[in-house]
Amino acid sequence: MLHHILQAYDGRLPDHCHVLFADTGKEHPATYDFIRECAERWRIKIEWLAMGHEGYDTPFDALIARKKYLPNPRTRFCTEYLKIRPIRAFMKAQGYDRWANIIGLRADEPGRVKKALDRCTKFYTSVAPLWEAGVTKDMVMDWWSRQPFDLRAPEGCGNCIGCFMKGRDTLIATEQRHPGSLAWWAEKEKQIGATFRPKNRRMTYAEMIDFANRQGNLPLADSTESIACACTD
Ligand code: SF4
Repeated sequence: MLHHILQAYDGRLPDHCHVLFADTGKEHPATYDFIRECAERWRIKIEWLAMGHEGYDTPFDALIARKKYLPNPRTRFCTEYLKIRPIRAFMKAQGYDRWANIIGLRADEPGRVKKALDRCTKFYTSVAPLWEAGVTKDMVMDWWSRQPFDLRAPEGCGNCIGCFMKGRDTLIATEQRHPGSLAWWAEKEKQIGATFRPKNRRMTYAEMIDFANRQGNLPLADSTESIACACTD
């Protein structure tokens, strides 16, 4: 999507277009490489936004320490504090009162598109050009297959690697394929003495790690694309 926008402006974004990446600190390393590579190869400035986290490893660590409880599907304050607020603060600091929030959701994600478009606020209106143009996942994959570089994050590792909005099987399969992926999440549950999801509804992260170690490889049953994370802000 960004590349098409760039082409529409003959390879140089106008000053009123800002490309923002809100960093939680818990993305897959390949995601960070990919963002840097997009900036270098396409010669664009990508604003790297991160909540202040002095004294903590990542913005997510700092946020949990400050809140003293864990985000969960009902109270997803990680999205709010680590993505929405830093983006809003950046735009306001540039002097904007209102802006268009251009998101890369596709035509084959109508549920997520509807949620995102419904989330317009007094500050911004969301726009989903890929959805409007009927662009599907296959078309995006085909486009990337013809590029000299690509996102090398393994399947299931988009957004925060261990995001509690992902399906249980995806998380277990991720831990099996990449041991240690869920360690931080298990550690946070232990530290806070609570769980990201109600215990009676889903295994804890420590239990998922244990399960991953004892079972044969699970298929990635529910892909990242199916999560209702809406962390597209
Ligand atoms: S990807 Fe998941 S864990 Fe990360 S900020 Fe979004 S909702 Fe929170």
